[in-house]
Amino acid sequence: MIENEKKVAIVTGGSRGIGKAIALALGERGWRVIVNYNRNRDAAEETLNTLQEAGGVGAIVQADVANEDDRMCLVESTLEAYGRIDLLVNNAGMAPRQRRDLLEMTAESYDEVMAVNLKGPFFLTQLVVRKMIALVQAGKISAPKIVNVNSISAYTSSTARGEYCISKAGMGMMTALYADRLAEYGIGVYEVRPGIIATDMTSAVKGKYDLLFAQGLTPIARWGVPEDVAKAVLAIAEDYLPYSTGEIINVDGGFHLRRL
Ligand code: NAP
Repeated sequence: MIENEKKVAIVTGGSRGIGKAIALALGERGWRVIVNYNRNRDAAEETLNTLQEAGGVGAIVQADVANEDDRMCLVESTLEAYGRIDLLVNNAGMAPRQRRDLLEMTAESYDEVMAVNLKGPFFLTQLVVRKMIALVQAGKISAPKIVNVNSISAYTSSTARGEYCISKAGMGMMTALYADRLAEYGIGVYEVRPGIIATDMTSAVKGKYDLLFAQGLTPIARWGVPEDVAKAVLAIAEDYLPYSTGEIINVDGGFHLRRL
């Protein structure tokens, strides 16, 4: 039994933005955290330093979630380092490199965004949950969890980045499918749906959203911050939703409400 050991989380895209806030929040609560990144090693090291300075334990692992070999390395290196996986946070994601109208969207952009935002998380989850099931059955972990960082784009049309919206709508079904399939093993599957959060991803469209917030886009009239999302993930990770699975937590300032 290694139940007394500290729990282990993999946070994909844990080096910057929302993933960084999630990694730091988990580290502060005593989780051992694998901070995954793809290209920006400096950012990953900076996140790990911050985590360690706060007394946390973790490591950085480079892996492109869109790449099958990389996904396997990510899982294997986590198990080599810590021997268990209690939580996978599918956070890594990308916007299209260029915003293009739906009628001008290219197949290359569609394939790239779908590979990073949907196919990658789907097959990474498949790899991780096979390991989780074995660990549960061996009595080494209990109630492991998957958290998908989705988006209001799962149900909101943005015609200048349709491939992103399609990938996030697909992630909604991915959450439902895994929740259904994995409940028998005590594996909970959840989704957080951030609204508009201040990160590198949204920095290029800051002016547009500043204006929309001022015009009343959301009942809570401010930008979201990565820590807003991290708190929701922490609530799931720390077992505050034990009789829920497939659940969607909107972290969007009320954006999802229909209003008159
Ligand atoms: P961000 O600031 O652009 O950071 C993206 C993170 O993902 C970085 O750590 C990046 O690592 C990593 N990443 C990107 N492609 C990757 C790949 N192929 N393999 C592994 N890691 C990869 O993004 P963010 O705003 O924090 O968004 C995080 C998640 O929240 C995404 O899934 C996004 O769709 C979702 N979301 C964001 C917002 C928002 O308003 N910001 C709203 C709703 C949902 P490198 O730097 O090493 O490439």
